[in-house]
Amino acid sequence: MNYCSHCGSDQLIQKIPKTETEVRTVCQNCETVHYINPNMVVGCIVENKGQILLAKRGIEPRKGFWNLPCGFLEMNENVEDGAIREVYEETGLKVSISRLHTLYNVVHSGQVYLIFLAKASNRDFTTNIESTEIGFFSEEQIPWDEIAFSANTFALKKYFENKSGRPENVHLGSTLNK
Ligand SMILES: [Zn+2]
Repeated sequence: MNYCSHCGSDQLIQKIPKTETEVRTVCQNCETVHYINPNMVVGCIVENKGQILLAKRGIEPRKGFWNLPCGFLEMNENVEDGAIREVYEETGLKVSISRLHTLYNVVHSGQVYLIFLAKASNRDFTTNIESTEIGFFSEEQIPWDEIAFSANTFALKKYFENKSGRPENVHLGSTLNK
C-alpha cells in the first residue's frame, strides 16, 4: 500500500497504534489504521455418482496440479454464492450446495477456506484458461500426490474417511496443527 485509501496521503508509516499491541500501517495525515486481514477462499466438493470433481490448474500458483474448484470470495457476495460461482467459472458446471463440509486455516498465507458439499446433476463441464483438464474421480483415482493445496487434500481425505459418518459434521483443519 502506497497511499491512504481514506485521504490519499502518501504518509503511511508502520507503528503500533495507542490502543493496540500489533504493528499496523497508519496514515500520519488522517490517522486511519489500515488493517490487513485474512482472505476467504470458497469452493466445493462436487459429487456426481459417487465421484468427485477435480480441475487441473491452468494458472499459477501450482499450475498443473489438481484442485477442488475454489477461489476468493468477492465483496458483497455470500459464501455459498461464491462457492457456486467458483465451480461455474472453473468448470462450467451448475451445482447445488447441501452443507458446509470443511473449514481450513492456511495461517502463513492469511487464508481461510470454506469448502461446501455440492451435487452436480450432470457432467457437462468445459475446460478453460483456468482449468486445462477436468474430471470426476473415485477415491482410488484421485491423484493424491498432485493436489495443489493442503486445504483441498484435507477436505478430500475427510470426505472419504467420513463418507458413512455423521452427515452434519464440519471438519476443522489448519496448517498449524496438521
Ligand atoms: Zn489518510
